[in-house]
Amino acid sequence: MVIVQHYPGTVNQYATAAAASLADVNLGIPDHCPYPQCQAPHSLIRWGSYQRGALLPDQVCLIRIQRLRCKVCGRTHSLLPDFLHPHRHYVTELLQSVVFLYLIKGLGLGRLLERLPRQGAAPTSVGGPARSTVCEWIRSFAYGAGELLLGRLLRHLLALDPGGRLPEAAPDHLKRIRGLGQRRRLQQGCHFWLLAEYLYALVKNRLPKLHFAAGQLLPFMLHWLQNQALPPRLFWSPTLPHTPTTPF
Ligand SMILES: [Zn+2]
Repeated sequence: MVIVQHYPGTVNQYATAAAASLADVNLGIPDHCPYPQCQAPHSLIRWGSYQRGALLPDQVCLIRIQRLRCKVCGRTHSLLPDFLHPHRHYVTELLQSVVFLYLIKGLGLGRLLERLPRQGAAPTSVGGPARSTVCEWIRSFAYGAGELLLGRLLRHLLALDPGGRLPEAAPDHLKRIRGLGQRRRLQQGCHFWLLAEYLYALVKNRLPKLHFAAGQLLPFMLHWLQNQALPPRLFWSPTLPHTPTTPF
C-alpha cells in the first residue's frame, strides 16, 4: 500500500537528500501498519527502496522512495512524499492547477493547455502534460473525488460542523458539458473541491500552525483520506479494472 507523508521541502531538495540517505529525508515511519486487516502497532521497518521519476513541468527528477515492511503481516508499503499523488507521474501541484483551472475557473481545455508549460519537442525535455493526460486527470478527479469520495467528505463535514453552511453550488460553466453522466460527475467533483476548501478553512482555524499552505489543497486532502483509513487517492481512473465501482 502507499502511505503518504508530508515533505516540507521542494522536489529537488528531496531528491538530493534522499540520494545521500533516505533516513535523512525525515519521513517518519508510521506507528502502525496501514493494511486494514492488520493495523499492527510499531510493526513497520525500513525495507529497501526504489527509484522513480517525479515529473515537474521543466524536468524529470529521479527520486528514491522508501519501502517499508510490516513484521506482522509481511506486506510491503511505499512511503510517498506528498508532492506526488499515487499512480501519477507529474507532481501534485500541477494536477491541482489543472483541476482548479478547469473545474473552478471554468477554462475550456484549449485555454487551459495554453496556461500550462508546453510539451517538450526534444525527447530529453519533459514539458507540460499532453492534452490526453490532462483529459485523463480531469476525468479521474471527477470520478474519484466526485463519484467515490464526495459523500464521505460531506458526512465528515456534517459531523464536524453540524451548524455550518456548507458550500453547494455547481458553477454554470459546467452546463456546457454534453454528456449527462460526465456533467454530473464534474459538478460533483467541483462540489468536492469546494467542500475540501471548507474543510481546510475549518482545520486551519482550529490549528493555525497547520503545515499545509492554501495552495496545497490536494496534498492536504490526501492526508485527510489517510486519516479516514481510506486509500490516499483523489484521482481514480474509471476505466481501470481495480478502480472501485461504489462510493467509499
Ligand atoms: Zn501489517
